[in-house]
Amino acid sequence: MTDVSPTMQALVVLEPGRVQIQEVPTPVPGPNEVLARVRAVSICGTDVHLVRGDYPGFWPTSFPFIPGHEWAGEIVALGPGSDLYGWKIGDRVAGTSHDACGFCQKCVEGHYNLCENYGKPGLHKQYGHNYQGADATYVVQGVKTVFKLPDGISFELGAIIDPASIALHVANRGGVAPGDVVAITGGGAIGLLSGDAALIRGASRVIVIEPTEARRAKAAALGFETVDPAASDPVKTVRDLTGGLGADVVLEAAGVPATVQWALGMLRRGGRCAAVGIPTLGVEIAMQRLVLDELELVGCRASAGEMRRVMPLVEQGRMRASEMVTHRLVLTQYEEALATYRDPKAGAIKIIILP
Ligand SMILES: [Zn+2]
Ligand SMILES: [Zn+2]
Repeated sequence: MTDVSPTMQALVVLEPGRVQIQEVPTPVPGPNEVLARVRAVSICGTDVHLVRGDYPGFWPTSFPFIPGHEWAGEIVALGPGSDLYGWKIGDRVAGTSHDACGFCQKCVEGHYNLCENYGKPGLHKQYGHNYQGADATYVVQGVKTVFKLPDGISFELGAIIDPASIALHVANRGGVAPGDVVAITGGGAIGLLSGDAALIRGASRVIVIEPTEARRAKAAALGFETVDPAASDPVKTVRDLTGGLGADVVLEAAGVPATVQWALGMLRRGGRCAAVGIPTLGVEIAMQRLVLDELELVGCRASAGEMRRVMPLVEQGRMRASEMVTHRLVLTQYEEALATYRDPKAGAIKIIILP
């Protein structure tokens, strides 16, 4: 590990709601792991929940904890065996979070986001969730969780490859077909990038339901139709916009009980809702309509194979990652970044942290 200092700066969540910049030991890559110099990390809605302690005992399993899972950087040290996969010092990479076992039935079928050994020490890690993340000068990750960044994608946009891969996963899970009318509940980064993913899959219209004015303005600037749920009943409005029929596919990217109910309510008969928002409360579902209208409701967890697939789409500008970046701050400004994220007037979509 030449040129790598033995300690590094890291953002440590000491306990729910309390973060501190600390000097901590630089992690050392083990077998089939690489050490990367983190150049950009993007703040995710999950980070905000996680710092607040909204997933007790799960994400993270315990405090203190270093979050951060949407990042890009360059490889500075190779653990034993990682060179066999072609990794070299200096490679530019984008990271993702699920380092799955590769052995269980879900993994061998390609659904490594559903690894049946989730969280078991030695078998599975989810960086920045139940294992140390990238809000630091350096991060160690397994070879399966870093992806070579093309020269045409900056580190800043590299930090948005993970959420872009999730957006593509959501549109894939929603089964968006050419000509579909797609509604999206929630105009944050995942919602807006899912709109691009829907267009890439051939959607004819994308309607974004979002209460925050700045986010609606961004959605409109991207060419999406917008609905303000505070101004009119969003279910009725989407039905009015679709000749009474409803949306063929709804992508639920807000994760609160009301938006899940809206999403199902605005679906066309036989339609499908793909949910990526994670409600922290139970949601009552209109089962009668789900049964009688043969609605489908599917969950979407992270991505599974979309990291490499989404990079050319970002590079070509079809997945408009660069449009998501609203703020740039350094690691020591993390608390300011969190406050900015939470302030609806700030119009934050993607905040990039430069460690
Ligand atoms: Zn994320
Ligand atoms: Zn597995």
